[in-house]
Amino acid sequence: MATIFSKIIDKEISADIVFESDNVLAFKDIKPQAPVHILIIPKIEIPKVTDIKGEVHAVLLGEMFDAANKLAKDLGIDKNGFRLVFNCGNDGGQEVYHIHMHLLGGRHMQWPPG
Ligand code: 5GP
Repeated sequence: MATIFSKIIDKEISADIVFESDNVLAFKDIKPQAPVHILIIPKIEIPKVTDIKGEVHAVLLGEMFDAANKLAKDLGIDKNGFRLVFNCGNDGGQEVYHIHMHLLGGRHMQWPPG
């Protein structure tokens, strides 16, 4: 089922896009939890982490990590470090059912997460 992220991909609703390639889009989270909070998403709809199949999606996931590393470097958080998060399902705190990697940085992260 299409989510709000499909509308962002299709440019039907606006977002602060910071990276785009043929397969991947990255934009600022509307409710940032850190000085840097970017969502990195595939352009194809994959609802949950449990829908990922390595033999099908490995290259795509690699592109998402490449985008995260590029953005971390461009935004100057690569040296101090950052956090990458995929929330999955209800207990994981997932709100939007189109997989997305949260890139969080610019402050020290706590562990364990809430
Ligand atoms: P989840 O809880 O599913 O892992 O994360 C969903 C994220 O999407 C949340 O951090 C939320 O703030 C963000 N988000 C939800 N709707 C929008 C939107 O319309 N635009 C943007 N830029 N971020 C959104």
